[in-house]
Amino acid sequence: MDLEKELENIEAIGDAHVATSGDTPLRSDAFELSDEEKINSIKSDVQNIMQTLGLDLTDDSLKGTPNRVAKMFVKEIFGGLHPDRKPKASTFDNKYKYNEMLVEKNITLYSTCEHHLLPIVGRAHIAYISKGTVVGLSKMNRIVDYYAKRPQVQERLTMQIVKELQEVLGTDDVACVIDAKHLCVNSRGIRDIDSSTVTSEFCGAFKSPDVRREFLEYIKLETTY
Ligand SMILES: [Zn+2]
Repeated sequence: MDLEKELENIEAIGDAHVATSGDTPLRSDAFELSDEEKINSIKSDVQNIMQTLGLDLTDDSLKGTPNRVAKMFVKEIFGGLHPDRKPKASTFDNKYKYNEMLVEKNITLYSTCEHHLLPIVGRAHIAYISKGTVVGLSKMNRIVDYYAKRPQVQERLTMQIVKELQEVLGTDDVACVIDAKHLCVNSRGIRDIDSSTVTSEFCGAFKSPDVRREFLEYIKLETTY
């Protein structure tokens, strides 16, 4: 493929929000720099962007922005890139022998589109059927939050949440539906304020139409919030 074609293709992947892999594409040297070193480096990058845009960085209102953005990237909105921040697995035995579906719905989700670095805001709905192990409910929120705090595409985020819960719970019977707005679609480009994107991953027992229907019935997806 010649270079021009390749660049065109890369642009198209970004515009169409296509994920190229199920795992977050990280380099092997991703964690060689400490958080502090990353913050310092990103700070000068942000300074350079603002400088190039012609902004006056001596203005009191703008002075602190490069440092603020750098800290926010490393510690907050992209903090879930670091494996050390993965929520610890605390599981319990299913003492009550409850083997029906457990659904946690309307988990608030804030993520960032990896193609435009603009916010993705929405809700995640998760269900699982226990094979003897259960997790605390807040654990599901923490798993969603951990994977959301990365540059993301919604399909990958949905799959990563399911995969993690399958590992933690020791069962395939996990499902996740995410309904979210992408600010790159809503505020720029085609500026469609009302559209939202729904992605789903149904595994194990949730592949059966009845089980899937029961889950969807519980969450009764409302796409306006
Ligand atoms: Zn985007």
